Amino acid sequence: MLLEHVFSEMVIAGAGWTQEPPHRYILVYMKISLDRCVACGNCVAICPVGAIDIDPVINRATVDQDRCVECFACYRGLSTEHLNPTLVRSIRKVFSWFRLRFDPEPDVCPTDAIEPQDLAWPRIVRRAFSDPLVPHESTGIHGRGTEEVKTNDVTHRVGEGEVGFTIEFGRPSVSASFRDISGVTETLAAAGIAFEANNPVTHLMDDPSTGKIREDILDERVLSAIVEVKTTMERVPEILRIVREAAENIETIIAIGVSTRCDAEGGSALESVLHDEGVPFWRGKTNLGLGRASQVEPVAGSG
Ligand code: SF4
Ligand code: SF4
Repeated sequence: MLLEHVFSEMVIAGAGWTQEPPHRYILVYMKISLDRCVACGNCVAICPVGAIDIDPVINRATVDQDRCVECFACYRGLSTEHLNPTLVRSIRKVFSWFRLRFDPEPDVCPTDAIEPQDLAWPRIVRRAFSDPLVPHESTGIHGRGTEEVKTNDVTHRVGEGEVGFTIEFGRPSVSASFRDISGVTETLAAAGIAFEANNPVTHLMDDPSTGKIREDILDERVLSAIVEVKTTMERVPEILRIVREAAENIETIIAIGVSTRCDAEGGSALESVLHDEGVPFWRGKTNLGLGRASQVEPVAGSG
């Protein structure tokens, strides 16, 4: 019975699943229990990508498995009560007869109906990029899995005379698929641009020299992901144009950050280069830390 129930859900949702010997089927996505949900709608508002809806036919919350990025916000963002679902539904129905509503507090799932499942490959990639509490295996860093240039004072990721780019795909409410990302990274690779090695998207490429992201995750969606490349000041306009053109063929949004080191007077050529490209320029923040430099780079003019 349980197995039939599981299968019908999978067919309806078109979700991926995996089979583990001997004959044990594992759900591989965020699930809302049809038995426990009372359709209060509290989880609908908390989902950052609009993946939860109340199905008016069955009067239960359901998760759009393609849209869900496994961020676990619905599971962790609501506190739970353990009310009896049958009792809650009965009370809500009786109240409705008198044009009254019986609703839980907005930050509560009253019947503990949200049931995260064990995620399997490739679905687990969604959670790695979308749940800020899960570190990336490839870099050991939570969230998007990279410190970008925020720790450049100790990592020296962007050296003197170099320009670093962070190309961020997706934002809350506009997620991104790896197919979108691969379209841009392949174009960058074809132009001879190298990718930052200590970055989780680079680790998901078949071969960083081609920029092609592995085939089995292309249809996975994530809340956001950051691609990092490094180049020279002369190539900044070219990189901006490549990303702008590639962005016209993908279905998400892209935010680009450009960074370089200041000279001894605090200036840099980047400001005028970006100005010429019609890109507004703002001084970014500097993260000061007490870390020890992991790479020692000679300071210009120090002899
Ligand atoms: S918060 Fe819980 S009971 Fe309410 S709609 Fe969501 S899953 Fe159902
Ligand atoms: S795991 Fe995240 S994306 Fe998926 S349904 Fe819950 S809140 Fe929405």
